[in-house]
Amino acid sequence: MATDTLTGPTMLGSTTKTRVFKNFIDGEWVESLSGDTFEDRNPADTREVVAIFQRSNKQDVDAAVDAAKRAFAKWRLVPAPRRAEIVFRAAEILMERKEDYARDMTREMGKVLKETRGDVQEAIDASYYNAGEGRRMFGPTVPSELPNKFAMAVRQPIGVCGMITPWNFPMAIPSWKLLPAIVCGNTCVIKPAQDTPLSTFNLVQALTDAGVPKGVINIVTGFGTEVGTPLTEHPTIRAISLTGSSAVGKIVGATAAQSFKHCSLELGGKNPMIVLDDANIELAIEGGLWGAFGTTGQRCTATSRIIVQKGVYGEFIEHFVARAKKLKIGNGLDETVEMGPAVNENQLKTDLSYIEIGKTEGANMVCGGNRLDKGDYQHGWFLEPTVFVDVDPKMRIAQEEIFGPVVSIIPCDDLESAIEIANNIEYGLSSALYTKDVNKAFAAVRDLEAGITYINAPTIGAEVHLPFGGTKATGNGHREGGIGALDFYTEWKAVYVDYSDKLQKAQIDRVE
Ligand code: NAD
Repeated sequence: MATDTLTGPTMLGSTTKTRVFKNFIDGEWVESLSGDTFEDRNPADTREVVAIFQRSNKQDVDAAVDAAKRAFAKWRLVPAPRRAEIVFRAAEILMERKEDYARDMTREMGKVLKETRGDVQEAIDASYYNAGEGRRMFGPTVPSELPNKFAMAVRQPIGVCGMITPWNFPMAIPSWKLLPAIVCGNTCVIKPAQDTPLSTFNLVQALTDAGVPKGVINIVTGFGTEVGTPLTEHPTIRAISLTGSSAVGKIVGATAAQSFKHCSLELGGKNPMIVLDDANIELAIEGGLWGAFGTTGQRCTATSRIIVQKGVYGEFIEHFVARAKKLKIGNGLDETVEMGPAVNENQLKTDLSYIEIGKTEGANMVCGGNRLDKGDYQHGWFLEPTVFVDVDPKMRIAQEEIFGPVVSIIPCDDLESAIEIANNIEYGLSSALYTKDVNKAFAAVRDLEAGITYINAPTIGAEVHLPFGGTKATGNGHREGGIGALDFYTEWKAVYVDYSDKLQKAQIDRVE
């Protein structure tokens, strides 16, 4: 357990055995100067307090940034392959603890065990991948235009990085940020989402046990404006990476610009899946169910619009709805459950409000629509999988991110009109096409305005070594995963070594 082993136990409230976490600053457990805390409750059974965390403030952020700044002076000088070895060891520790960490995650955010195991696995994959980067970090070595002169470019760390994360992938997303950042030689202050800090503590526990020195990673828990804002404004922070909603992205981007920080924004989505007449319909139905209702629809890449060609429209809906009605909903710790609760009351209210909007707009709701609050469901934030059909692409339910188990099915005439519907949206994260026609598949890859396109697979399922991120209101052009993360967490330095022993002027002293 993180608090038992990291730097000494902080098991307060021993009568209830509820774990109480302090902030993790400079390798020490530190109480917030606010003197205030908040609870992390299980959304499948809100009677359970999973853990208690510090409700931190600007002074706590200042202390964490100071610690990270001191640590940077030494960490940047540790050879990158040595830094990477620590991350490799962390992967092996995470493997050993995968089951415990997955169970903690299901309890704090409701995702079913199969998926929380996948979330921990993604952090493991990201650890192995980034550990490999410690021996690469390639830069160009090129000929100089002058004789007896050497020219190359090297990657250098940026300094102290601030990270702000959402609740839906509470270990995977922090790992996408922390691991490349520290392999590149930066130090970090991370603010996890207030619904899911425990999984970030578990990840950092593994990294600390693997040997990450004190001050290199610091955790400050709390709320957006109380911790996220001072982190974004802090003059010592040189890079800020946010994954969250587009609304918060606008604020963070504008604030970060005031002090010329590197700023990576990974934001919302409204992801289309197109099903053409020639598709394997059974495969498309299976993919659609997984894309729409996996993680209770609470993925930035969730399949929230299914655009179906008219020749198979009726058949698709009939079988899709029949299968959606049979999904087993409940506490994700039960291995037979297929869909867990909404993460919190606010998200459930948002889902229910969009269901009302859909009905008012005249969409045809053929499945779900109700909160489940009787029997085993009475203490959780459960909602039926909900399907609207005959949706007009201009309706709000087809344009706005709901972030719940609510999917809109839209008819289309052909690939061309499907792509027009798919693209006519504010966001551009993920997209999918089901077809057996290779020509149509490649045309869609070219024309869909999204950072990710899947052929014959749903809109979810990214792998850590490929670029992850989106176009338009989904972000500001950066990519996590793969080499894009190195580009974000380093700055290029061009290096010229003149060994001619005389002054040579570039562009002026030309060798003919
Ligand atoms: P959110 O935007 O409400 O919060 C994200 C984080 O920002 C939290 O830690 C929050 O405390 C913090 N925050 C809130 N206000 C802030 C402020 N003014 N300044 C600084 N920080 C602030 O999002 P959420 O509800 O946690 O997550 C759901 C959203 O995240 C969805 O829109 C989803 O699409 C998006 N998301 C995107 C990706 C991606 O990679 N594109 C991945 C996962 C989730």
